[in-house]
Amino acid sequence: MALVCLRALPDDVVQLDRAVVLSHAKQVLPDVVSVGDPTDGLYPLKDETGESVGWAISTLPQAQKIQGYSGPSELLVIFDKDRKVKAVKFLASSDTDGHVEKVRRDGKFWSQWNGKSESSLGAAVSPIVVSGATLTSEAMARGVAARFGAEGMDQWFPAPLAMADVKKWFPDGDRISSNKNEGFYGVWKGKESMGTVLRSSRMGVSARGYNGTSDVIVALDRDGKKVLGIGFLGSRDNEPYVSSVKEEVKYADGFAGKSVKEILLEDTWVSPSLFTSGASYTNHAVVESVREMLSRHITDEKKGGFSWKSALAISWILLGVFFGISKAGGKKSIRYGFAVVSVAAGVGLGWMVSQDQLLGWGANGFGAGAILPLVVLTAAALMVPAFTGKNVYCNRICPHGAAQTLAGGLVKKRFHLPSKLHAMLVRLPWATLVVIWLLALMGSGLPFAYFEPFETWSSGFVAFIPAAIFTIGLVAAFFLPQAYCHYGCPTGAMLRFLTQSPSSWTRRDTIAGVLILVVSLYVFL
Ligand code: SF4
Repeated sequence: MALVCLRALPDDVVQLDRAVVLSHAKQVLPDVVSVGDPTDGLYPLKDETGESVGWAISTLPQAQKIQGYSGPSELLVIFDKDRKVKAVKFLASSDTDGHVEKVRRDGKFWSQWNGKSESSLGAAVSPIVVSGATLTSEAMARGVAARFGAEGMDQWFPAPLAMADVKKWFPDGDRISSNKNEGFYGVWKGKESMGTVLRSSRMGVSARGYNGTSDVIVALDRDGKKVLGIGFLGSRDNEPYVSSVKEEVKYADGFAGKSVKEILLEDTWVSPSLFTSGASYTNHAVVESVREMLSRHITDEKKGGFSWKSALAISWILLGVFFGISKAGGKKSIRYGFAVVSVAAGVGLGWMVSQDQLLGWGANGFGAGAILPLVVLTAAALMVPAFTGKNVYCNRICPHGAAQTLAGGLVKKRFHLPSKLHAMLVRLPWATLVVIWLLALMGSGLPFAYFEPFETWSSGFVAFIPAAIFTIGLVAAFFLPQAYCHYGCPTGAMLRFLTQSPSSWTRRDTIAGVLILVVSLYVFL
């Protein structure tokens, strides 16, 4: 139900505060006394007789993806009755306060649309921007154009990737092809693959330096395992920092020749691959972008078709389900033996059920590109407990649970928390689960992978928080049986909740089914 609600987070419906619209409208259309019901986001502005004397519309949701320095802005476009712009007004912004304030004070910026017809607003002409707040003002102006149909306004680096941009790594290459995933390119010599290029602006990777993002490319060898080098296609960050970093990359590309895995382990603030004195933020943003692109590249590689790896993974999952529901799985030797298999699967595959993954699928759908074994794993984790009352994922399959089982088996003396402390701590996973889902439903956009240790299994000890939860949980498991499972894991809490199902269809299931149907109809129709 909650997953369906996540899908329902509005992305094309913007409700405006009519009192705010009215107060803005009155400033330029004094006859307006009320704001009517919107059609396609366009609010009629009515006079005393109920006649429409103008219209108002927000630049959202189209402007949502267009970020200035640190976030999108929302403007209100007010038309007269001939659908000519009467005024464009500021509504809200998540951009940096100082820049927003500068734009708000600039009359020339706000009057640039006055008198224009609605049909001309979607033209992607160069807008008047505010000096000292260029990114914020340009993002706002792009938002207006996007609202009225201009394409690609969220694209700050519109030029396509050209052969000349990658020639230095692929001197024999003669053509570039786009991969099915945006931002992934293949470089070819005839029919022979030369390598891969990743492009940050097309992958939606936007690590910010001092004041803006850079369009960074990463060239990989034909196996996709070694980095040939990185380059800049453009930058909106501040000078002279960008130039310093560009020079550094041009003459001493520290990424060149390193393996993808090696770079993924680097600290983005003190990277041995790139160090530019006096330009630490730009430097950090470039390293962060490179790392993010490489991490997506690795995930993409893992999504390849049905392979022996997928076959092994599905066998592991099915065996885990079997041991989880059969009596044979209860034997100590099988429990420990299969725990070793699960830990090996976790290390080798890195596929785990997690809140971050479930929320991501809930919000975006998992699509045809999802890894099949991960879909099977998630289905087994969610559906088996609902139908059998047995939490097979936690009991047999989860690599992190299995690692704790093995850790516990190595130490004879076990501790137990005082009952009061235990009673208090067992609530933690539930509280975390509720917090995560509330934040998700509020559209917070937080990286939910940071609430759990599972990311560490796939990307190693890269992100500090998951790595810390991973380490503390496993060390604690030597002394407290399944410590993290009992006192920390929100996914475990969710799966335990599913085991409460009475294994047959009840009136509650009917009510839940109807609610899901209603929300689904609301979302999708
Ligand atoms: S409670 Fe969490 S860590 Fe433990 S087995 Fe279940 S999902 Fe894995």
